[in-house]
Amino acid sequence: MARYSGPVCKLCRREGLKLFLKGERCLTEKCSFNDRKNPPGPPPKRRAKISGYGAQLREKQKVKRIYGVLERPFRNYFKKATSMKGITGENLLILLERRLDNTVYRMGLATSRAQARNLIGHGHVTVNGRKVDIASYQVRPGEIISLSEKMKTSATLEQNIDLTKRMGLRADWIEISEDGKSGTVLRHPARENVDIPIKENVIVELYSK
Ligand code: SF4
Repeated sequence: MARYSGPVCKLCRREGLKLFLKGERCLTEKCSFNDRKNPPGPPPKRRAKISGYGAQLREKQKVKRIYGVLERPFRNYFKKATSMKGITGENLLILLERRLDNTVYRMGLATSRAQARNLIGHGHVTVNGRKVDIASYQVRPGEIISLSEKMKTSATLEQNIDLTKRMGLRADWIEISEDGKSGTVLRHPARENVDIPIKENVIVELYSK
């Protein structure tokens, strides 16, 4: 699947927010956003006023970048969100949170969603004991997310678990096992579990035009 392969720290500067795309680096002082917050490119001669449409577009891009989802699948999530009961914007975020790559990240097994996608793509993630190599797989309550036996003994995994535990990055809608290497989905994530400043209503306005 096509993916953005350019410099990811630029994306944080573009959105004016830490998007946590680089794993461990984002959690340390090495994060370049701490010192450099200006948008990429030459400084504008005049400060441009952002239009309503521009603000909607930026919000959508921000969410797509955080979850690593391209335009077409993102639009499909939106369509699905509109057909679900409840508030469309919240439904959209919940569908994104339920992705398997996000779940692996929220379990603290990976330090970024990109790293979680790699683990899944290489067949290291299982759902109810069966290998699932589709990052967009939607997890359901009761499912047990775990890792392949080979991955469970990896030193990188131990480091990830240690770091994410110390940083308190784990979600409370997943019950993590004692060794931290598997977890049971307790319930669907809720809007308040999305700990990133997102104005989802603005995205709904954009797609509803
Ligand atoms: Fe963004 Fe900082 Fe992570 Fe780079 S290191 S992706 S600037 S949060």
